Amino acid sequence: MSRRPSEQDWAAAVAAVRTGLRPGARVLLVCHVNPDGDALGSMLGFAQGLRQLGVESLQCTFPGPLTVPAPLHMPAMDLLVPESEADPAPDLLVTFDAASEGRLGSLVDRLETAAASVVLDHHASNTGFGKVSLVDPFAAATSVVAAELLRRLGVVLDRGIAECLYIALVTDTGSFKFDLTTPEVHELAARLVATGIGVGEVSRRIFDTRPFGAIRLFGEVLGRAELDPAAAGGRGLVIAVATLDDLAKHDQPPYVLEALIDSVRCTAEADVALLLKQVAPAEWAVSMRSKGGADVSLIAVALGGGGHRLAAGFTGHGTAADVIAAVRECLAEQD
Ligand code: 5GP
Ligand code: MN
Repeated sequence: MSRRPSEQDWAAAVAAVRTGLRPGARVLLVCHVNPDGDALGSMLGFAQGLRQLGVESLQCTFPGPLTVPAPLHMPAMDLLVPESEADPAPDLLVTFDAASEGRLGSLVDRLETAAASVVLDHHASNTGFGKVSLVDPFAAATSVVAAELLRRLGVVLDRGIAECLYIALVTDTGSFKFDLTTPEVHELAARLVATGIGVGEVSRRIFDTRPFGAIRLFGEVLGRAELDPAAAGGRGLVIAVATLDDLAKHDQPPYVLEALIDSVRCTAEADVALLLKQVAPAEWAVSMRSKGGADVSLIAVALGGGGHRLAAGFTGHGTAADVIAAVRECLAEQD
């Protein structure tokens, strides 16, 4: 997906969503597995917009256990249902922030059973799945796409919608620091903030709050980080590995590790940052970041994942050394 949505794409999405506005229509919203702020925020913000337009039968869900980490608690979470309770054949399905069908887990069958479906996303690696696809690879977050679709549907931003879309926007732009933070992103942020959301409180909760055990855990994992200045074509690679033992030792849940890549990627001597987060004895959630020299989405896609040029991930199998070797091999191909 290398082009922005055309006017026809927007019109098709508006038309598809309108089928879900008919009286009695059942609407199902789904975001990607292990949802981040953008996935949840764009979905729950959009859900509140549909509520405003009169949708009564509305479910939000994602594959896997229905747990949302405390930092990502936000309005409209009462709309969340476990995947087992999700409507098997809704009148309208909308997916959020999922770059491929695999990211929808067992809910992928709804793409077939739903009468109408719309895919909202911003990953350049999006595979183009879904009947109506609204993917803008130049959008900083899926919430930017969701906000524009809500605007075209005539939804008025209220505080609840705005808080969700804002959480989505700040997480995916790294607090307005990343490259896709365009004037339009700040204009959207201004409209969201104008509803009266608590910007300081949201930032503190999402980025600046961590259990003391996690502080210690980060210190330990960062203390073992390794720098290879010769890798990535001489631009440098920094590697950190967080194991289940680390989590157990500091009595921390896995989600606290989501923020750790932001410390690893600060390494001045490395273009590429690699973080392995152990999820099972031979399974790793892998996060990669680039400062521009390497395209980490190519590595992620080659290893079964996805993402963006500068931020991508995949699930790795085997030992940490196996996973690191696979990444190094893909990285070397880019030289
Ligand atoms: P993070 O490293 O913050 O988990 O993810 C960075 C980016 O890579 C996000 O855009 C996320 O959607 C994508 N990503 C991370 N892990 C996976 C994965 O296992 N599969 C796919 N398809 N994308 C992933
Ligand atoms: Mn996103």
